[in-house]
This record gives sequence, structure tokens and C-alpha cells, in this order.
Amino acid sequence: MTLTFKTTDTTAVFLNPFLNFERSEVTCQLRWDPLTGRSGRLAHFVGFKPAAADFSGLIETSGKNCPFCPDNVLALTPKFLPDQIPEGRLQQGESVLFPNLLPYDVHSALAVLCRQHYRSLSDFQPRLFVDAFTNCRSYLDRVIADPAEIYGLVTWNYMPAAGSSQVHPHFQVYATKAPGNFLDRLLSASQSYRSETGRCYWSDYVQEEIRRDERFIHQARHSVWLTDFVSLSVLSDVIAIFPGKQTFFDLDASILEETAQTLSAVLDWLGRQGVYSLNMAWLPARKGEEHHWLQLRISPRLYLAPHVWCTDTPSLVSQYQESFMIRSPEEVAGELKAFLRSHPGA
Ligand SMILES: [Zn+2]
Repeated sequence: MTLTFKTTDTTAVFLNPFLNFERSEVTCQLRWDPLTGRSGRLAHFVGFKPAAADFSGLIETSGKNCPFCPDNVLALTPKFLPDQIPEGRLQQGESVLFPNLLPYDVHSALAVLCRQHYRSLSDFQPRLFVDAFTNCRSYLDRVIADPAEIYGLVTWNYMPAAGSSQVHPHFQVYATKAPGNFLDRLLSASQSYRSETGRCYWSDYVQEEIRRDERFIHQARHSVWLTDFVSLSVLSDVIAIFPGKQTFFDLDASILEETAQTLSAVLDWLGRQGVYSLNMAWLPARKGEEHHWLQLRISPRLYLAPHVWCTDTPSLVSQYQESFMIRSPEEVAGELKAFLRSHPGA
């Protein structure tokens, strides 16, 4: 079945003060997601690079009393009730998991990734992700009685530009019946697609993206990596799709290992582009909802103008909920694909 990747170009005309007030034309492209119809805009800022930002002072100051650093983590973070998790906290490798002081739902925790207070995006080894994901899965396994009823969500807000109040790398992990508007829309639209066509949208989508080879990045044994046609991030979202999988519990050790390898390489590439902050989210279904395939979405975040702390979420994004991209997903996919080909282990 053919999917529609709809675009429309619009052109604004003005007299340009930087070209002696000559007539200038600037094109903006509108795009619509082939499943949900969610729209977004692509501005053609050719060659855009994130502006350099110096976080050295922030990293040093925040490291002095960080509750997630090894000297403090067992003294300053909460413990689970003995009848919930008798150990108090869960540990796997360097990862330590404990209740979230600012819970999102009944069962809500944080998982510190590593002992080191700060890491650049090019400095996250696969082992850190394997251990932290395994720790999160153990927690969800303990608190979710029936995965057909509850969503197990894992997210990462890294560095303040992504909404984190702590520099020290940590995941949020929680169980909920309300997975949020974005995932709700994906689930209901893919369910409608299944009802109307008898087919799984994500199977058609992955096949079409591989065939087009415009946003396709990498195919691993258990996942397909690509950029999103209508990205949430100004710099293009990278998505990993896990064919035939619905929940975090469907990922065994070898899949987590493989995912961590590619994730580490993708983050390395982002770090080399000057990216210092990101949001990451696992987008699962509930057990048995086979119209959906499990996904991992990585959205780079940045200050558009760090010298005035200009964020990447103006009214258009936060209130009209319209994505605004300043690098094309096709361009990003091409560069990332070339990088992964030369990256050992990806
Ligand atoms: Zn720390």
C-alpha cells in the first residue's frame, strides 16, 4: 500500500536589508505525517549548525551537591516501600533506580545512568544504556501486574535545554494508563489503519521508507532506524522501530545490546554536530496491541541563541503544537547513515 508523504511549499517575498533592500524570496515547506496528519514546517536554513554553548560552569557548580553522584545517591534519594521493592532501590551496573520525588503516576521512578556527573553525547558507552534499560525493565516488571492494561514508559531529558533540572544523566520510568497525547494519537491512528486496510501501518511504513531511501538510516537485526518526516525537533528526530514488538518486555538481552550499540553511535554523531541536549522516549503499546510497533524516538534539543537563552519552543511549537524543522530529515539521514556505516558496532 502506498503511503502519502504530502508537502506544500510556500514562498515569502520581502526587500532584504542585508542585500541592499533587493527583492528576496524565502521558501518554507509544510509537511503532513502520513499516519496521523500531524503537520510541521521545514525552513530552509541550509548548513545550519547548533550555536556553541559553554556549560562548563554549570557542570562544575551542579556537581558540588549533586544528589545523583556516587557520594550522595544512597543518602539523598528516596527508597521504595519494603512491601513494594524490599531492596529499597534497584541497581544494575552503574545504574541506580529509586522513586521519583516528583512522580508522574502511582509507580514513577528515576534511573541514574552512570557514576560520572556529566558526559557529552559522544561519551555514552553502550554498556551504560544496556544496564539502565535493564534496570528500568526490572522495575516495570515489578510494578506492572498486567502489561495488557498498563503502559510502561521510559524517557530521558538530557541537560537543561531538554527540560532537565539535573545535569547528571538519568531516565524517568513509570507505569501509567494514560500514555500522553502523542502516543495516544499514534496508537489510535494505527488501530484505524489496521481496521481499514487489514494491515499493520508500521510494517507498510518501514517498507516504504526503506524503498524510498530518503530518511532510512540503518537496519539492524531487530530494529530499523530512520529520521521522521515531520520531526518534533528542529534538528530532526531519529526513530528506531522494532518490528513485531509492542512493549519494553519484548526486548531480550540481545536486543537491548544491539539497540544500545546503535544508540551510542547515533548520540556520538549528534555530539560531533555540536548537539548537547536531547529528549528520548520509548513509545510502546500495551501487550496484545499488535497494530503498533515499539519505537524509540530521539529528539535533539538546543538553545537557538545560547547568548540570550533562546529556546527551541516558541509559541508555534508549544501552543499551536506545530513542529518547526531547520534541518531537513532527508539531509540528516544521509549524513547519519554515512557515519554509521563507518562506525564500529553500530
Ligand atoms: Zn552528579
